Amino acid sequence: MEKQKIQEHLLRQKMKGLPKYHDLKSKLFIKQKGKCTVCNTELELEEHDLHEHHIRPISEGGSKSKKENLELLHKECHRTKPNATT
Ligand SMILES: [Zn+2]
Repeated sequence: MEKQKIQEHLLRQKMKGLPKYHDLKSKLFIKQKGKCTVCNTELELEEHDLHEHHIRPISEGGSKSKKENLELLHKECHRTKPNATT
């Protein structure tokens, strides 16, 4: 297995014990290699620290559920975003 596949596999394993995380979050988590897009350090798989950020605000016509419009951030990092909605 190539390196990236192994990493993906490990991330998936990590997600397995957390059924409350639906598919979309899992996909984002893997896409971001388990890292926050703001500070680039690892995200904890705990709900209070895993925020979904809408890249394009819903109020401006951004999609609420498309993964292309979402990224996962730390709660604290989310606060630094000007258009934080949650
Ligand atoms: Zn962060």
